[in-house]
Amino acid sequence: MNSRNKARKIIEDEYGLDEIEIIQMSMEDLQAPGICMDFGCLNVQDCDQDTRNGICDVCENDTVHSYLILADMI
Ligand SMILES: [Zn+2]
Repeated sequence: MNSRNKARKIIEDEYGLDEIEIIQMSMEDLQAPGICMDFGCLNVQDCDQDTRNGICDVCENDTVHSYLILADMI
């Protein structure tokens, strides 16, 4: 599974929204779901739209990426 597919699955499970709805929500809120891409970590947390390498609240690695980046939206 590539990182975008991992992110989409986590997001859909967490928010119950599909990809388009998540992107729309992010654009309106100027926030984005941040997905931790560390192997084995499934944390989702709010982050800035352009976050790359944000610190994960759970595993404390700098592996949180904005969903908009993972989805190649920005
Ligand atoms: Zn993590």
